[in-house]
Amino acid sequence: MITGKNYIGNTLSAKGTKTYTTFNPQLNQENSISFVEATTKEIDLAVQLATNAYPQFSGLSGTRKAEFLNAIADEILALDDLLIKTYCSESGLPEGRAIGERGRTVGQLRSFAEMVKEGSWVEASIDTALPDRTPVPKPDLRKMLIPLGPVVVFGASNFPLAYSTAGGDTAAALAAGCPVIVKSHPMHAGTGELVASAIIKAAAKTKMPNGVFSNLNSSGIEVGVSLVKHPGVKAVGFTGSIRGGRALFDLASQRKEPIPVFAEMGSVNPVVILPEAAKKRGETLANTYASSITLGSGQFCTNPGLLLGIKGDALTAFIKNLSDAIVKIEPSCMLHPNIIGAYENNKQKAVSQSGLQVVADFGAGVQSNYARQTVTTVEGKTFLENTTLHQEVFGPYSIVVQCKDKNQLEQIVAHLEGQLTGTIIAEEDELKEYKEIVSALQNRVGRLIYNGVPTGVEVCPSMQHGGPYPASTDSRFTAVGIHSVKRWVRPISYQDWPDSQLPDALKNSNPLGISRLVNNEKTNRKL
Ligand code: NAP
Repeated sequence: MITGKNYIGNTLSAKGTKTYTTFNPQLNQENSISFVEATTKEIDLAVQLATNAYPQFSGLSGTRKAEFLNAIADEILALDDLLIKTYCSESGLPEGRAIGERGRTVGQLRSFAEMVKEGSWVEASIDTALPDRTPVPKPDLRKMLIPLGPVVVFGASNFPLAYSTAGGDTAAALAAGCPVIVKSHPMHAGTGELVASAIIKAAAKTKMPNGVFSNLNSSGIEVGVSLVKHPGVKAVGFTGSIRGGRALFDLASQRKEPIPVFAEMGSVNPVVILPEAAKKRGETLANTYASSITLGSGQFCTNPGLLLGIKGDALTAFIKNLSDAIVKIEPSCMLHPNIIGAYENNKQKAVSQSGLQVVADFGAGVQSNYARQTVTTVEGKTFLENTTLHQEVFGPYSIVVQCKDKNQLEQIVAHLEGQLTGTIIAEEDELKEYKEIVSALQNRVGRLIYNGVPTGVEVCPSMQHGGPYPASTDSRFTAVGIHSVKRWVRPISYQDWPDSQLPDALKNSNPLGISRLVNNEKTNRKL
């Protein structure tokens, strides 16, 4: 049952007076449950409980944390149809997507469980002492990763499950040993509360300390601002707009004790279509890209919003084929009236720029909250000179830039802002011929794709989801896959510490049997 209350640790609480509801974009009406925004006292209590839980939770074995993560996955599945129905009613997304996203969420939790159970993720490194070294003896040094402390996670609007309450950021932070306080996304507060109840049940079943998890409601920036400024909070995870992510990053940097904000924000995911590939495969490519641009109503951070090619018959034919294909696709529902409002405004702003030509626009009438897909085109010179055209239009929109030659294409790629992904559509020989462009693109992105589409983010250790600013605030880290745990830890070295008092990961006997770097050799042997 959804109560509309906050979880302050394991207690349901609703002390505030500010309430709000979620919205069903398919029915174009508000949902009935009223959610109560967290008060300052409730925020303080959630942070205090997380701070109290940290020493015990951070010291738990990998096996115990794995039990907790797996129990969360089980409890999410036990929510069954109620979760799926609530998700659909708060997002306008179809049931198949809800089920798929639940599978991804559960899969992420289980892969972090495997990682912590195995244990080598702490990157234990041991350099034994050389007491006879001259001119000075070398001390015994042992290093590993330890959790930062309480982490605040801002749920994403476009992934109500996989990047929200028990999504990738939360799973990674809990795996690291950090208590988590979620600032629930107001557009799917019911989905958030259900998932929070699953986490609280799992915490009780696996005997986790109270405060290991809290879920705070809010529909406005105040709760998030208070959390980021709170001295008890040690790191922040965010997925959303550049404006929101940057505001939180600046706030965290201005604190007396600055803390890291790992924000995954906007990206237009440039796709470079080289001439030979356009000539040979233009029509197929156009169909593939029509589907990718409109997938999930364009509400993916990896949506291909910018297509770049060199002027000529092949590119002209590609634009025509893309336009013909995209208008045949039925429009779909966006997440919320605010999201479609932003889409229409941003699209209007782009379309009103001089030199831009609309080549495809779904013309027929659409239901409320359904997005009309649009493709535009512009000359390379105009694009270079007008940075408004470089901005993300979150939704089913893409711009095709027609460059006059290879040099102009390279110049545009080199001047792009940081991106999550970059794609090269090419024949293999063209990769050599256009190597400067490939290299320029590599400099701007976190993931380089060959002959594919950027939508569809595989969850696995080799995935990089993050890129140079403003795609993310720290391009050294990924927000997807088990390596995302590295955002929530810091290294610590123990010097000349007695073996009996070292963490198990660093003891001579290697009781965890993990892989370690011992005197520069990777081994799981004991010393
Ligand atoms: P958002 O406006 O960035 O908000 C995300 C979360 O951060 C919300 O919980 C919001 O709280 C909070 N927030 C935003 N600005 C804040 C601030 N200055 N201080 C404290 N908290 C703040 O994103 P959204 O509502 O999810 O979607 C709006 C737009 O973001 C979309 O139209 C799209 O352009 C972009 N977006 C991009 C991606 C991507 O992956 N690239 C994903 C999702 C959204 P409140 O809502 O309670 O104010």
